[in-house]
Amino acid sequence: MCGIVGYVGRSEAAPILLDGLRRLEYRGYDSAGVAIVDGDHIGTRKCAGRIASLAKLMSEKPLSGSYGIGHTRWATHGKVTDENAHPHFDASGKIALIHNGVIENYQALKDQLAVDGDDQFTSETDTEVLAHLIGNIYRQLDGKDSKARLVNAVRAALKQVIGTYGIAVLHSDIPDFMVGARRGSPLVLGVGKDENFLASDVGAIVAYTRDAVYLNDFDVVAVERDKFEISSLAGEIGDRQVSKVEFTAEDIKKGDYPHYMLKEIFEQPATVRDAMRGRLSLEECTAKLGGLNMTPAQLREVGRVVLTGCGTALHAAMVGEYLIEQLANVPTEVEYASEFRHRNTPMTPDTLVFAISQSGETADTLGALRESRRKGYRTLGICNNVASTIARESDGGVYMHAGPEIGVAATKSFTSQLVILTLIGLLLGRMRSLSTAEGSRIIEALEALPKQIEEVLKLSDEIKAIAKKYADVNGVLFFGRQFNFPIALEGALKMKEITYLFAEGHPSAELKHGIIALVRPDLPSVFIAPDDGVFSKNVNNIEQVKARKGPIIALTSGNGAKKLKGIANDIIEIPDVPDCVSPILTVIPLQLLAYHLAVELGRDVDKPRNLAKSVTVE
Ligand code: GLU
Repeated sequence: MCGIVGYVGRSEAAPILLDGLRRLEYRGYDSAGVAIVDGDHIGTRKCAGRIASLAKLMSEKPLSGSYGIGHTRWATHGKVTDENAHPHFDASGKIALIHNGVIENYQALKDQLAVDGDDQFTSETDTEVLAHLIGNIYRQLDGKDSKARLVNAVRAALKQVIGTYGIAVLHSDIPDFMVGARRGSPLVLGVGKDENFLASDVGAIVAYTRDAVYLNDFDVVAVERDKFEISSLAGEIGDRQVSKVEFTAEDIKKGDYPHYMLKEIFEQPATVRDAMRGRLSLEECTAKLGGLNMTPAQLREVGRVVLTGCGTALHAAMVGEYLIEQLANVPTEVEYASEFRHRNTPMTPDTLVFAISQSGETADTLGALRESRRKGYRTLGICNNVASTIARESDGGVYMHAGPEIGVAATKSFTSQLVILTLIGLLLGRMRSLSTAEGSRIIEALEALPKQIEEVLKLSDEIKAIAKKYADVNGVLFFGRQFNFPIALEGALKMKEITYLFAEGHPSAELKHGIIALVRPDLPSVFIAPDDGVFSKNVNNIEQVKARKGPIIALTSGNGAKKLKGIANDIIEIPDVPDCVSPILTVIPLQLLAYHLAVELGRDVDKPRNLAKSVTVE
């Protein structure tokens, strides 16, 4: 995964490319580079390190020119070095290429190029092989129209590629022209006035234009200043709609927050409200989800649900299993997307599959969606990114409407997913045995959430003080039961992602089946123990940890704090809510705990080590 950006226009390309790369840095950030054409000279600057290092290099050795391409890399093939940073060039040095994805058959292509004597490579990347292949074919093609020749060379090269790509290509002899193409990695065309853009994510270019064309797999686009043409790999010209981007450049600013992650945690009263806006029917005590594209009769026939995703989305799916089974009594399975797509999960014709992904581009989840559809199951998406591949390829779905999520550690998208899964449980339940009274109780609970989240956010300083206290621990354990068991997993995931501390989540009762061996004074246990039907069971487990001198941070509600006083070392009190919506509140203190501990440890919260958002490789 990585970020790519391209510009053809009348302005200086360098600041536009650097600005775009900064906005794409969440996708990958181990090295970066640009190629910009001035007259017939192609200049390139690239280096290992963050965009800031590239910006420094470019201020020392500026590049001028009004068309160019830029890349922020997240290495898959070849170490993180200046040489391996993109752009890469063909043998003539005139064709520059940036690439997001993996060329799986790069070695075979390299061997084939060597037969032609094209065997001088300057990097260890799979990408450079594609640059050489395009150049090699370009030189063999005839024709006076060099633009068509370059597009044809790109097409012919991509036909030989096994793997995934989002690419932008330019040739120093072909002024004001670039070619983009995609398969498996996202690519969007930004349509401006006398200028056009290419980007992995529309956020990179929304400051310049809000008119965008979301490219499909196997699209090839020829981009000029004042026009563009989209065609297929086979050469058929296609017609694509220009759509308006939903958000503005303002929405992707950090504002007064030190990190995107904290900003996004604090956006949750609004994003939770947006996830249910217009989707509740007070009169019928149910949810309205028109995007599912299913009639009431079809929804009533659903006999089984499969929820699939990766990482945080998988934890949302696990809460979804509790929700759908409790509210609708429909058997529900959770499948890791990466496993589901390769195994033979028993399915019945009445199975409904949901693929959950914030970006809508997660490679494994997309693979699972395609496999499920290939086998003929109705497959719906739960995505945030409206124009994403999952959103476009599914039979219907529900959008999160959470606005852009930039922090690599997912926060607001998780609570939006939980709201949507509650709505799905409510809808399926009300078509079965869930009473009007139960339906309206859940609606009331959902509607009360934004205010209650505001209350929880007020605990941020208190949680910061707890984080400071535990700054020298060796790891953190998380425990919860029922709806809050997946929250223990999510709490541990946040902790791992941004503090790099060892962290594990478990069902509380599993403690005595092995994990208790880990308990010691420098390993705190976080218990998610709201005052619900399993509270007293959680207290038993808390006592077991206490007896072995393990520090305890308890997250509780109602009368829980009174009962835990003197047992837990630290108590975080949150509002008391019905158990099925409780995870939407309980996860927030855990997000804050991981955040404050990471800051205390001096971690790079928005760009944690080895991680990137939107995992578009398998
Ligand atoms: N496979 C390419 C590389 O390792 C591109 C990786 C990316 O998507 O950043 O350079």
